[in-house]
Amino acid sequence: ATAQIGVTGLAVMGRNLARNFARNGYTVAIHNRSYAKTQSLVEDHGDEGTFVPSESVADFVASLERPRKVVVMVKAGAATDAVIDELLPFLEDGDIVVDAGNAHFPDTIRRENALRARGLHFVGSGVSGGEEGALLGPSIMPGGTRESYASLGPILEKISAKVDGVPCCTYVGPDGAGHFVKMVHNGIEYADMQLIAEAYDLLKQGLGASAAQIGEIFAEWNTGDLESFLIEITADVLAHVDPQTGAAFVDVVLDQAEQKGTGRWTVQNGLDLGVPITGIAEATFARALSGGSPQREAARGTLAAATTPWDVTDRDAFVEDVRLALFASKVVAYSQGFDQIAAASAEFGWDIDRGAMARVWRGGCIIRARFLNRITEAYERDQDLPLLLADPYFTEAVAAGVESWRRIVSGAALHGVPTPAFSSSLAYYDGVRADRLPAALIQAQRDFFGAHTYRRTDREGSFHTLWSGDRSEQPA
Ligand code: NDP
Repeated sequence: ATAQIGVTGLAVMGRNLARNFARNGYTVAIHNRSYAKTQSLVEDHGDEGTFVPSESVADFVASLERPRKVVVMVKAGAATDAVIDELLPFLEDGDIVVDAGNAHFPDTIRRENALRARGLHFVGSGVSGGEEGALLGPSIMPGGTRESYASLGPILEKISAKVDGVPCCTYVGPDGAGHFVKMVHNGIEYADMQLIAEAYDLLKQGLGASAAQIGEIFAEWNTGDLESFLIEITADVLAHVDPQTGAAFVDVVLDQAEQKGTGRWTVQNGLDLGVPITGIAEATFARALSGGSPQREAARGTLAAATTPWDVTDRDAFVEDVRLALFASKVVAYSQGFDQIAAASAEFGWDIDRGAMARVWRGGCIIRARFLNRITEAYERDQDLPLLLADPYFTEAVAAGVESWRRIVSGAALHGVPTPAFSSSLAYYDGVRADRLPAALIQAQRDFFGAHTYRRTDREGSFHTLWSGDRSEQPA
């Protein structure tokens, strides 16, 4: 037994993760269901470090130092269960199995329970950053026991991305916490991408600007508060010219956005927990709408369009309005995502430190951004902050842009430009800050048809009105 860490599942992600471990000086046991992938890793990259290839699971496990640390990087779902079942007969007390794939957190809770009962540690770990991140330094979100993190953590921290010398990897919480946080990360990624797409569309329709011109605006934005990986690649994509047609690349791509399911999981969980994650939900539905061809086919050219053309006269002011509206909407989407983490943390007893999550997202992952520093600072100021928007920095930053936000959302509505994420974020903002909501009327209706009772603004207790009788009020 010579290897300090093992990786089984050597498709793009596992292969690069194994190389990352090796490049950082670890002796890496490697295994894949079909041996060809294991061999090709050694042939192509064997000189990058020390690999111990095995064809059988038994040899693979035997090549690991105890307590063994096995990273499973296979297709999420049944494949993960199959691999765990194959490993089990060879593992011993205290060994650590890390699922670094994109598992759904309830599966992780189930697997953690099963492995704990057998004296093993199961670490469900979010890994973000795609293929390149896996090789050069991903953002890593491991769950499981603190005990397992004591020996596993330093290795994961070593291979993770670093920002200002700080690893983008930290212990998240028990059982499903790591995969949960990764799921919300992906949900926020959906919202962020949708907001950027809406900003692009606003600039396109409001200014009649070309993709290249809008690309320059995004490049400029990337030097300020909005600086992030997604804004940076947006500028790159918009500047790209299709070599076959000479047209802007974005203009030849079919306008249908696909999804693999993590956005859907996030929204489903938001509904389960009763947390309004409207930015993520709108972003997920916007992808569904883009791909829902029968509806689009039936509606295109049929439904009445806006009648007034958008005639922007002050270009610079408009661009600044869109920028401020984008920033404000983005703060809402992140604020909602962190609310969801807080709610799940309370529900499942995970005790997740939200500031630490923002810190590990600063590098390596798709939503890496300058303003995550501000989020970490906000939660450092107040660990129990009920609402990110209520942190003084964000309250002020959003207030500074709120008039722009209203101009953009109302202009978009007037001129028929769909901005589901911008609009719903503003509606959330106005809803959450309102002195009084029309929910009073809803509760009154509920009492009317279902005797669901209501509370009063002026007295303690629950009441019911005899709606079909003399309409007198009864204590409930
Ligand atoms: P895939 O999801 O395409 O999975 C392929 C790997 O799974 C191969 O090694 C394959 O082995 C193995 N496998 C499939 N079924 C079984 C089985 N029944 N028993 C044993 N092994 C099996 O690989 P990726 O590298 O793209 O992703 C790996 C994981 O990482 C996934 O969970 C994915 O969601 C996650 N992830 C992916 C990211 C990405 O950017 N691609 C980013 C972050 C996470 P074989 O070669 O024998 O077929």
